[in-house]
Amino acid sequence: MADIHFQYKLALKAIEAGFDKIRINPGNIGAEWKVREVTGAAKDAEVPIRIGVNSGSLPKDLLEKYDHDDPHAFAEAAMREVAILEDMSFENIVISVKSTNTQTAFWAYHMLAGMCDYPLHIGITEAGTLQTGSIKSSVGIGAILLTGIGDTLRVSLTADPVHEVRVAKQILTACNLQQEGVEVISCPTCGRCQIDLISLAESIEEKTRHIKTPLKVAVMGCAVNGPGEAAAADIGIAGGEGKGILIKKGEIVRRMTEAELETALLDEIESMTGEKIKR
Ligand code: SF4
Repeated sequence: MADIHFQYKLALKAIEAGFDKIRINPGNIGAEWKVREVTGAAKDAEVPIRIGVNSGSLPKDLLEKYDHDDPHAFAEAAMREVAILEDMSFENIVISVKSTNTQTAFWAYHMLAGMCDYPLHIGITEAGTLQTGSIKSSVGIGAILLTGIGDTLRVSLTADPVHEVRVAKQILTACNLQQEGVEVISCPTCGRCQIDLISLAESIEEKTRHIKTPLKVAVMGCAVNGPGEAAAADIGIAGGEGKGILIKKGEIVRRMTEAELETALLDEIESMTGEKIKR
């Protein structure tokens, strides 16, 4: 997807180069004939155009009419851009109204969903660094998704883009919208925990990140409550005080030493998914 501002020639080049989608705001492309050239090329190539309104691109008059955090400003700005494309009989449109304010984004997407039927690309812009941005994106994007809105999404982090994809997948999984890969369910630990559960859970998550088969894996800190609390998982382990158990759907299926736990779980995941795990 190519993100183009001001330069209609770059939009044409992006379409020619085979991009799947381009993002332009027709209002900043300039003369009508330039926008027409872009919509014409996009139509011929069957390339959708995303209108992307964000905090930095709100028109002056809307900023005077509304507060800069007002969702009405975002929704109105987007529909204004949509009208330009519709006037040119171009309707292969996707819209985004990303604010850095989660409440503004939430309501702006809701307003837009009531105003049109175009697909909505959702996100929280300038969300921040890895941890802060992941939390902010999860709250904002998650809330929007849970109300049934959103067709594509982007997590924007000040971090290696690999994390953006990981966090996006985790948000989809947490919203029950993606059934792919291993979901590690691990307990928060308590006074009963007699095992280094944090390292164990992190190690299992890291080693199984590449797996595509949907699987819920529980990593629990004790054999007393572990099996019950892991009942929702397909496979799980619990351990402490030198001992360990392997749990399937809440039932204990094998007993072992604590040292064997990780290997036993990874072996089981391999055999259930048919996918290899690097040790
Ligand atoms: S599984 Fe055991 S260690 Fe973990 S929170 Fe429950 S009781 Fe505590």
